[in-house]
Amino acid sequence: SSPFSALGIADAFLSVLAGENYSEPTPIQRAAIPAVLFGKDILGIAKTGSGKTASYVLPVLQRWDEAKWPLKNRHVPVLVLVPTRELAVQVETVFNALAQGLATRPKVMAVFGGVSINPQMIGMQDVQVLIATPGRLLDLIDSKAVHLAQVQVLVLDEADKMLDLGFKEEMDRVLALLPRKRQNLLFSATLSNAVNEITQLVLHKPEVIQMTDEPQEVQLIEQRAFRVEPERKGPFLRYLIRSMDMHQVLVFTSSSHSADHVADKLSKHGIEAEAVHGKKSNHARLGTLARFKAGKLRVLVATDLLSRGIDIEALPYVINYELPRSPKDYVHRIGRTGRAERSGEAFTLVTPEDQPHFKVIQKKMKQWLTLESTDDVDLKGV
Ligand code: ADP
Ligand code: MG
Repeated sequence: SSPFSALGIADAFLSVLAGENYSEPTPIQRAAIPAVLFGKDILGIAKTGSGKTASYVLPVLQRWDEAKWPLKNRHVPVLVLVPTRELAVQVETVFNALAQGLATRPKVMAVFGGVSINPQMIGMQDVQVLIATPGRLLDLIDSKAVHLAQVQVLVLDEADKMLDLGFKEEMDRVLALLPRKRQNLLFSATLSNAVNEITQLVLHKPEVIQMTDEPQEVQLIEQRAFRVEPERKGPFLRYLIRSMDMHQVLVFTSSSHSADHVADKLSKHGIEAEAVHGKKSNHARLGTLARFKAGKLRVLVATDLLSRGIDIEALPYVINYELPRSPKDYVHRIGRTGRAERSGEAFTLVTPEDQPHFKVIQKKMKQWLTLESTDDVDLKGV
């Protein structure tokens, strides 16, 4: 069966996907589709060209198809806000293309400024999916061509660009017209303070999906590397957590075994810690993650298996207790901090034996850190 089926996409879409040569979902699609189908709010950050459009178009179409939202004339159930006319047309095309396999297809319409409004007012009849630039949408609302009180799903695509172009005020006006209960999906290629603000305003307990491969995101993270003798690693970890007063920290190890070991040791020394890794049951992992997210757990110790899948919001600290095997995993690990432009710090413990491998990682990242000596740090009683 198709890898899209595994994400919950209905059979009706499969032949169209094959026709578009979408043989595999992209990473953002893999993460976003199940969450959108589930009805969750989403903050999706991934670079241009990563397939963000289908990551919402597919599941939104499926939800529309299954939900049978009441049809009231000129009340649109699906609203997509976009910054430009070009994007409006592009998104309209994707909606129409991917809806082809459905027995009943929604009427999709793109509206934008710079062209006559009259045809758009007439065309608004029975529209199910409206894609609009904010200014023109407000004009259409003012002339009662469309109503937003029944919107079920709101998408903000290229939110960063929308804010850059100065649409903040228009967006606020649109938001005020929406019903309280709705699903919100926000996509952006970048995170800025402005995007973060909109996120806080619009999204309700969002699933944060951030594809952290982009090097400029890594630049936001302050990284430090410490040279530590193997037998001093445990005490030095406790020293870091205590001396920097870390309330929440994610610690990475290279194996399940050492994740358990590190968590045990921390707990024995009075620092609340639990491990998550592939050898724990799903149930146990979810419980641990929930405690961590709720702030009831100070330290989460994890293996690389989970560095990509953990959906936790901006963490101030990440510690690499052991090095990851690949530079890619290093990026994923430290990408867990410094999100949403909040400053994050990533610390890496490097034993003398680790040094050659750490060089390889840094070379791949094209980023060189000074290895700080820890020989003088007093670790008695930590
Ligand atoms: P973004 O919005 O992230 O910039 P788009 O949604 O515009 O990216 O997608 C970029 C390109 O990738 C488009 O040409 C799209 O058709 C194509 N694409 C999207 N998803 C897939 C997929 N699963 N397989 C192959 N191509 C895809
Ligand atoms: Mg896009």
